[in-house]
Amino acid sequence: MKSWTSRPVPQLPGRMPALRLFDTAKGGMATLAATGEQSMYVCGITPYDATHMGHAASYVAFDLLNRAWRDGGQQVSYVQNVTDVDDPLLERATATGVDWRELAASQIELFQTDMAALNVLAPDHYVGAVEAIPMIVPAIERLVERGLAYRVAGGDGEPDGDVYYDVEAAGKHAPETQDAWTLGAISGLSDAQMLELFAERGGDPGRAGKRQALDPLLWRVARPGEPRWPGGALGEGRPGWHIECTVIAQKYLPAPFTVQGGGSDLIFPHHEMGAGHAYSLAGVPLARHFAHAGMVGLDGEKMSKSKGNLVLVSRLRADGEDPAAIRLAILAHHYRTDWSWTGAGFAEAKDRLRTWREALAVAPEGSAAALVARMRAELSNDLNAPGALNAVDEWAQAAVKGAGKRAAGDAALVSDAVDALLGVDL
Ligand code: ZN
Repeated sequence: MKSWTSRPVPQLPGRMPALRLFDTAKGGMATLAATGEQSMYVCGITPYDATHMGHAASYVAFDLLNRAWRDGGQQVSYVQNVTDVDDPLLERATATGVDWRELAASQIELFQTDMAALNVLAPDHYVGAVEAIPMIVPAIERLVERGLAYRVAGGDGEPDGDVYYDVEAAGKHAPETQDAWTLGAISGLSDAQMLELFAERGGDPGRAGKRQALDPLLWRVARPGEPRWPGGALGEGRPGWHIECTVIAQKYLPAPFTVQGGGSDLIFPHHEMGAGHAYSLAGVPLARHFAHAGMVGLDGEKMSKSKGNLVLVSRLRADGEDPAAIRLAILAHHYRTDWSWTGAGFAEAKDRLRTWREALAVAPEGSAAALVARMRAELSNDLNAPGALNAVDEWAQAAVKGAGKRAAGDAALVSDAVDALLGVDL
């Protein structure tokens, strides 16, 4: 599928130091080896509703990582999927009387326009679930052949043949390997916690005929009125969500790749199961590190489609708001914290953007290099964007107050650094 177009990233003199990043699976900070080549997979949207602030914050967070790597002289391979067939999309299409393909296409278009406006660098491969089905089917067939997946008999209105991943069998697979996957390896959650989240987040712990309550769906055989694709030995149907991401990542990225990213609501079951599938298929971990962005609420409440309190990037843009200010409002919060979108926070971001732009016109001679070094130090420390924003604030205050000589070269370097490292267009 076609991705959006990235704006060029200015090259800065010098380099970002080695990056430290919080690794969810490790439960602590990891130093990312500067091997020259980095790879990242960030889970994409299910396109049935426009980009809300939670999505935007998550993609901006991993865009910071992408930009930090590039500034450190690393080549970055970036892959993102789009789950362009899944239950919520089909349900929304039915509820609104729109063809599910049209709904998906229109929401993908809106998402990409939002990402381009927010200056999020585009993935090298933007891959839809539907176009990946011919790769996903053989992967599931292999899991069945290896005894790590099984078919469930029908009943209670369900047809025969849905395929599930056997988490217990998979956890026992190749146990002599130190980095082998077992359930809980990524999330570190207890069985009770996993069970609760599994039910909340699209799992079906009560499905009759499953070997374990936590076994996730790999292949849903065709139901009347649902879209279906050829499934080889599996029969016609459509894939589960976790296997979709795993197969796409394995196709386009090295094994293991550097960072699996997403919102913290993807830690379990999505990233847990995806890591299991990958290990079962390839015998090596999916990714070296797992990183997660916090959740965004509205005025202290959880933002959700069911509550109808989504803050949409497209709505703000339609209201004439500057996407650079939206991005700055996001960056004022550390990517791992849960935070709330508020009118006051957005007003602060707009003030900040105005101040930075005013300061550029009076940039003092010799001030830029030290600012770039401070921004790099903050960002290399677990992508501390609020720290980098403070550094620019202090520079801007000094510039506006200062009576020293002004220098166009310093203004240009600050503008380039704010663009290259923070993705904010001054
Ligand atoms: Zn995913």
